[in-house]
Amino acid sequence: MTTDGCPSCGRPLDAHDRHVRFTLPDPVLDAPDREMTAGTWMSHADARESVMMQVPDIGAFVRALLPIRLTEGHTITFGVWLAVNPRELQSIHAVWWEPTYRHLRFTGWLANAIPPWGMLAAPVETVVRDPDQTPYCDRSGDPRLDRVLRDEWPHDLVLAAVSQV
Ligand SMILES: [Zn+2]
Repeated sequence: MTTDGCPSCGRPLDAHDRHVRFTLPDPVLDAPDREMTAGTWMSHADARESVMMQVPDIGAFVRALLPIRLTEGHTITFGVWLAVNPRELQSIHAVWWEPTYRHLRFTGWLANAIPPWGMLAAPVETVVRDPDQTPYCDRSGDPRLDRVLRDEWPHDLVLAAVSQV
């Protein structure tokens, strides 16, 4: 464990490359019975482990990674949920554990608010960068999200917001 402070923002350096995994999509978090809603399907035993879920009257969701590049080479990676068309969830599920997974691409909508920007429901296109990981958020038709995905961001802006999650 390092006790070195960051020369740029003073925070411990090991706070700079965190992985932040959202347990539930925000619309499911807001539902009275959350993932216990009758008829809910999840890919794994619980929401934290699951990579796909469908909740009646709320929607279908798939996990993706959303990396935020910070200055000086650090990256905060959000494990987010994307809302997808329920019919598309079936085709995603069909290839998820197959060799063709590496070619999977789909369009979803952010189902978690990303600190400090928010951007809930912004559209995003995914690509598989590593067959052992969930797809990555790659680009967006929403100019702000597209910029968030491409630019480098100051430590304070992102880390102060992430510490509230
Ligand atoms: Zn820093």
